[in-house]
Amino acid sequence: MIGGMSWESSAVYYREINLGIQKKLGGFYSGKIILYSMDFAEIERLQHSGDWKRLGIMLANAAYSLQKAGAEGVILCTNTMHKVANKILENIKVPFLHIADATAQKLLNDNIKKVALLGTAFTMEEDFYRKRLEEKFGLEVVIPRQKQRKEIHRIIYEELCLGAIKDSSRDHYVKTIENLAEQGAEAVILGCTEIGLLVSQEDSPLPIYDTSMIHVDAAVRWMVNQQN
Ligand code: GLU
Repeated sequence: MIGGMSWESSAVYYREINLGIQKKLGGFYSGKIILYSMDFAEIERLQHSGDWKRLGIMLANAAYSLQKAGAEGVILCTNTMHKVANKILENIKVPFLHIADATAQKLLNDNIKKVALLGTAFTMEEDFYRKRLEEKFGLEVVIPRQKQRKEIHRIIYEELCLGAIKDSSRDHYVKTIENLAEQGAEAVILGCTEIGLLVSQEDSPLPIYDTSMIHVDAAVRWMVNQQN
């Protein structure tokens, strides 16, 4: 696992992967996990100053270290940093489980065609994520209006990545999801690994596809196949 972006969501990954393995195999079974946890202060600074080249090198090095330490597969526990997924792929031989692919596959299995996407501004606005969903999987993706996107992004960095959960912020997310439902979205992707800490299915007017949980499930299936 390449985590720490933020550790609030990596902690959920760690717990849920172990719970998932225990559920599938029972007894004392748990995940064999190597966690490379980044310092999010450094990551966040480089993201907002636009130094994706440096970020690519850092994550590619992290992935290589995991492979060298014996990892048989790598997951990156954040949507945003999949912007540099290609740099990781270039640096490792073991499989890499892409968070958007796991999510898109689940949407297609459920016959969803038009989907709303919430996440950081990078994830909502740039091609690396949306285009992948659209071009590789044929999904139609809708995103919030500019003003709403700004607030969705602010809440992720100023609150969720610092462990702050506020009712007023949940209200903003729910209102935004309502607007996206009015535009015909059949479901909403929680395309940031911390949103699930704030918004649950009971809050949402649309079915939620929580990328961290979907990624965890896919990783558990992968790991169980290797352990057995
Ligand atoms: N964890 C978040 C995501 O899934 C945002 C933090 C980050 O920029 O990595 O996009």
